[in-house]
Amino acid sequence: MPAHHDMIIRNGICVLPWGMEQTDIGVRHGRIAALGVPHNATADETIDATGLHVLPGLIDSHVHLRDPGDVSVETIPTGTKAAVLGGLAAVFDMPNTSPSITDAQHLAWKQDYAEHNAWCDIGLYIGGTKTNIAELAALETGRGVCAIKVFAGSSTGDLLVEDDEHLERIMRAGHRRIAYHSEDEYRLQARRPMFHRGDPHRRHMEWRDEETAFLGTRRLMALARATGRPAHILHISTAEELEYLKDFRDVATCEVLVNHLTQVAPEVYDTLGGFGVMNPPIRDHRHYDAAWRAIGDGTVDTVGSDHAPHSREKKLLPWPDCPAGLTGVQTIVPVMLNHVAAGRLSLPRLVDLMCAGPARVYGVVGKGRLAAGYDADFTLVDMKRRRRIEESWIVSPCGWTPFAGMDITGWPVATIVRGHTVMREDDVLGSPPGQLVRYGN
Ligand SMILES: [Zn+2]
Repeated sequence: MPAHHDMIIRNGICVLPWGMEQTDIGVRHGRIAALGVPHNATADETIDATGLHVLPGLIDSHVHLRDPGDVSVETIPTGTKAAVLGGLAAVFDMPNTSPSITDAQHLAWKQDYAEHNAWCDIGLYIGGTKTNIAELAALETGRGVCAIKVFAGSSTGDLLVEDDEHLERIMRAGHRRIAYHSEDEYRLQARRPMFHRGDPHRRHMEWRDEETAFLGTRRLMALARATGRPAHILHISTAEELEYLKDFRDVATCEVLVNHLTQVAPEVYDTLGGFGVMNPPIRDHRHYDAAWRAIGDGTVDTVGSDHAPHSREKKLLPWPDCPAGLTGVQTIVPVMLNHVAAGRLSLPRLVDLMCAGPARVYGVVGKGRLAAGYDADFTLVDMKRRRRIEESWIVSPCGWTPFAGMDITGWPVATIVRGHTVMREDDVLGSPPGQLVRYGN
């Protein structure tokens, strides 16, 4: 008598760690119980995935859900609802909120709040600052903490650590991989007087130029080598850094953003104005081509959205008063699937970048692969589905996306989080089942 399952996903083409196979997946108690289920096995819920690909639940390891902060822009409930509508089973949320998450008290609040309000599973970054270095070793092993995040160049918030002395002290506190925003703050400040309020938005990439990013990364790599502390360089934006990092695989992993794989300058600034302004900036075709080469040759470990919403009103301010940061948590999967459909990467490579990659880089326990015993997180995608990204589909309260009007081939049609079907064909179902992601320490 075959075992009874809570859920069986039948007839889908599954992206397994060892290749794509058509197989049936059995789920019990929120975990994958079996790959390959007998035809007469029974289940409370059977999902027919005929014609669909079954991916491990996709992870966006770089989002800013702004909570606590301005609820008219984004919150954890709305941002994670956007995530599951967009096919994500987990997100890792940044600490530069208002107030920031830099101590045990705020971390405890966020752990409890996220567990009761998130539609997907969630990992939490802790901010590394000049004043919390003594606590970082304890904070980084807290429940649900994916990594310390250090802003070595200024962006939104007040978590700046620009000097080598404090960066090195942070690297010597604790042991887990640290995630960095890498831009050289001194060069940013030195170049600022060359630019003026009301300059065209494309000046953003001239101010925060290639050398600003590359210099920041060279400084971080020297310190990472000296201290032996592993680094994850977020949102790499230059051909120079991608080439350079190939010689630092002993200490460094890296992320590229979907934006840098999709949009190019100067067109993005001419068409979107402030809604194309982010840090590090979107650059020209040379860097776009380098980013795709680095996807192809394995240099890139993770792809994230850097979902960093601001109000429409603020984005309409003249440069550089328009804050940097774009929405993306709801659109990263469709846009990346469109790249798959266009032949720029394979579906297994996408799963490597958004499942195995985040799992490896951050030490995720029990997620990121379709294998017995792993969490029953799935993203079901229809690679033939054609659809246009509409702003009316966006559920983040700020209400805009830089990808509005983009025609997509390949769309997420269901999101399953530990056996809970939270999204099916644009419907968000049940109540928020999100838990904190577990990490090995
Ligand atoms: Zn970010």
